[in-house]
Amino acid sequence: MKANEVAEKRISFVGLVEVIEARLVAAGASEEVARVLAFNCASCERDGTLSHGVFRVRGYLDSLTRGWADGAAVPSIERSGPSFIRIDGRNGFAQPALAAAQSLIADTLAETGVAVIALRDSHHFSSLWPELEGFARDGHVAMAMIASGKLAVVPEGASRPVFSTNPFGFATPVAGADPVVFDFATSSVSHGDLQLLRADGEEAPPGAGVDAEGHASTDPVEILDGGGIRPFGGHKGALLSMMIEMLAAGLTGGSFTYEIDVEAPEGAHTFRTGQLYIVIDPQRGGNDEYLARVRAFTDMLRDSGMERLPADRRYANRAEAERSGIPVTADIRALLD
Ligand code: NDP
Repeated sequence: MKANEVAEKRISFVGLVEVIEARLVAAGASEEVARVLAFNCASCERDGTLSHGVFRVRGYLDSLTRGWADGAAVPSIERSGPSFIRIDGRNGFAQPALAAAQSLIADTLAETGVAVIALRDSHHFSSLWPELEGFARDGHVAMAMIASGKLAVVPEGASRPVFSTNPFGFATPVAGADPVVFDFATSSVSHGDLQLLRADGEEAPPGAGVDAEGHASTDPVEILDGGGIRPFGGHKGALLSMMIEMLAAGLTGGSFTYEIDVEAPEGAHTFRTGQLYIVIDPQRGGNDEYLARVRAFTDMLRDSGMERLPADRRYANRAEAERSGIPVTADIRALLD
C-alpha cells in the first residue's frame, strides 16, 4: 500500500487525536504538550496535509525518546515591548509554547492591535496553517515563518545545502466565509512530500532538486541522499528563504539552519530552531470594512475563474472527514498497531 493510499477503514478525528496523544505521552511528552501536538497532527491528517499528518508521528517519538526535544518543557514567556512577545521554548515544541502564550497574545492585540511573537529554542515540525487559521477565526490577520532546521535546500550557485525548506504562511478572516489561509515551503517541494514520493517510488517534478554532484535530478533518493532541493521560483524563492532564516532564526535568537544541522544527532527528526509570528487586528488599519472588502475581493477572484482559493481543498476534506471519518492510511495503521 502506498503511503497516501486510502483504505476502506475510517477513524474519527477524536479517535485519532487520542491515539497520537497516547503515543506522545508514552514517549515522555507532558499531557498538555501531547494534547496540542496530537490535535495539530490529527488536524493535518483530517484536512489532507498528509506531509505533516500521522506520517510525522515517528519523528516526534524519535526526538522525544532520544532526548533531542523536551516534551515536558515549560516555555518562558515575556513581553519585551508593547507589541513584542519573546518565547523561549526551552527545547520544547513550538505549538504548545505558542498555546501557552495565547492569553498574553490576546491582551497584546487588544491593547496595541499587533503582536510580534518571536519563538526560539523550539521545535516546529508541522504545517503552519493550524495556528494561523485559529488566529483568523478569532478575527485577526496572521503571518508565520519558520527556520525549519533540516539543511536541505541548495539555491542556484551554492555548492551545498544552505537553507531548510523554511515555510511561510498567511491567514485572514473573510466576512461571511471561512478564512483564506495558505502556507508553503519555500522549496520547490516540501521535504515531507519528497519522503512520501521516495516511499512510493515516484519521481519528483522537474526542477525539484539536484544530485550529490549538483546535477539536476527528479529522483527523490538522489535529492535526499547527498543532493538537495531547489528553492521554488529560482532566486525569488531563495531570497524569501534567506529572509526567513534572518527573521525566524536571526531575529528570534533561534538557530540558523546551518548551525543546527552541525549538532543534530543521527536520526534526529525535529529541529531546535526559531519561528516568527506576526498577528494584526485588522480593525486598527483605520478601515472598519476590511473583512467585507476581502470578501468582495475573493468573490471577484472566484468570479474571474480562480475557483480554488487556498484552504478550499482542506475545508472540503474536513467536511468529508466530519461526515465519514478519516481514511486509515498505512501510516495510521502502523500507528494503531
Ligand atoms: P502546497 O504546495 O501543497 O500548498 C501550498 C499552499 O497553496 C496551500 O495553502 C494550498 O492550499 C495552496 N494551493 C495549492 N494549490 C492551489 C491552487 N491551485 N490554487 C490556490 N491555492 C492552492 O504546500 P507545500 O508542499 O509547499 O507545503 C506543505 C506543507 O508543509 C505546508 O503546510 C507547510 O507549512 C509545511 N511545511 C512545514 C515545514 C516545517 O518545518 N514545519 C517545512 C516545510 C513545509 P490547500 O491547503 O487548500 O491545498
